[in-house]
Amino acid sequence: MADVDITVVGGGVVGCAAAARAATAGLSTVLIERDRLLGAGTTSRNSEVVHGGMYYPTGSHKARFCVEGRRLLKEFCELHDVRYRECGKLIVAVSADEVAELERLQVLGAANGVEDLEMLDGDAVTTLEPEVRAVAALWSRRTALVDAEGAARAFGLQARHADAQIMTGAEVTRLERVDVGWRVTVDPPAGSGREGWTHTSRWVVNAAGLHCDRIAAMAGIDVDARGWRLQWSKGNYFAISPRHDGRVGRLVYPVPPRDGSSLGVHLCLDLAGRMRLGPDVEPMDGGVGEDYSVDPDRQEAFFAGGRRFLPFLEMDDLSPDMCGLRPRLKSWRPGQFTDFVVQREVGDFEGLVNLVGIESPGLTSAPALARQVVEWVQE
Ligand SMILES: Cc1cc2nc3c(=O)[nH]c(=O)nc-3n(C[C@H](O)[C@H](O)[C@H](O)COP(=O)(O)OP(=O)(O)OC[C@H]3O[C@@H](n4cnc5c(N)ncnc54)[C@H](O)[C@@H]3O)c2cc1C
Repeated sequence: MADVDITVVGGGVVGCAAAARAATAGLSTVLIERDRLLGAGTTSRNSEVVHGGMYYPTGSHKARFCVEGRRLLKEFCELHDVRYRECGKLIVAVSADEVAELERLQVLGAANGVEDLEMLDGDAVTTLEPEVRAVAALWSRRTALVDAEGAARAFGLQARHADAQIMTGAEVTRLERVDVGWRVTVDPPAGSGREGWTHTSRWVVNAAGLHCDRIAAMAGIDVDARGWRLQWSKGNYFAISPRHDGRVGRLVYPVPPRDGSSLGVHLCLDLAGRMRLGPDVEPMDGGVGEDYSVDPDRQEAFFAGGRRFLPFLEMDDLSPDMCGLRPRLKSWRPGQFTDFVVQREVGDFEGLVNLVGIESPGLTSAPALARQVVEWVQE
């Protein structure tokens, strides 16, 4: 018999949600997080938007888990006092030739089960958001803002209350398949003076975010053959001067770029109402590590992008802010839709669940991914 039922590798919002779901279902659960804190990785470096789910092909993992995840996340945040605000979002067409794209998203959203989507003409947009320039917009009322790190920590707390062991400052360094499941080797940070350990686990869930390809390879999977090697893609943000705070009350997105690289540089609000533009797409070369610097030379491109729908913006309103790294598959090509990999292994890797390439809308999808993982474990 294995020491525990399930070991989750990674304490971002996805891993924490999985651990909470597993522990509350009565499974003996261990969560291992390399960082000192939960939710300090990509979970703390994003737009904190709870997406509706109108961008993704019907039937894809992204569509399914995003639509279900939004409902579950809202419910969870209400129950656990995590900050959540249904501010809504406008996807704006700034010229007549962009309207067809809004109509396509509306149809897709309806097919995906997205609630409360409405098409607005230019006058209706002006009534709603007088400072935004648009000839039409798709209004998603249910799109929300969430305290992402707060959600990860609340999932962690729920897991702990249900007797999960949450180990932070501890790194999974080895995975070996054994009779009862997996032997997991965990090491403390070098120089900490603490001891590492091994335990056996019936199931291992790879929720290691930017390092999910390394964890899959650690388990013996040929990640190149499966197209799972990551090439991180940086998403930068520029802050908008606080003198404009309060001028816009909803998230504002452009029609998404045709290459499918992102949802487009949009107006983000935080829970305090501060405004930022972002994220853009900056492919990263391998080997530079987790580089979170923001190149100030990108300011002009941000200004040009933002000014299309925010006519009040001036160049010197912008200043470099923060960035996040997308765990993007290296095999991604412009124009190509890439889905989440959500895979229960069989055969030689039985007992392993891989969550690979969980970029946006991964925050929104987290509780739905957790539900899927635990359903497999309980089968
Ligand atoms: C710029 C940007 C904007 C985004 N905007 C949105 C948005 O608005 N809405 C949305 O829904 N999604 C958004 N996303 C996506 C969302 O942020 C991610 O999908 C989500 O945070 C992924 O969470 P995670 O738990 O998988 O990964 P992470 O938060 O990265 O957690 C993985 C954890 O695994 C740990 N780890 C790695 N290796 C090991 C190991 N060997 N042992 C132990 N621990 C390990 C890491 O330390 C890390 O804490 C955005 C992403 C980016 C980059």
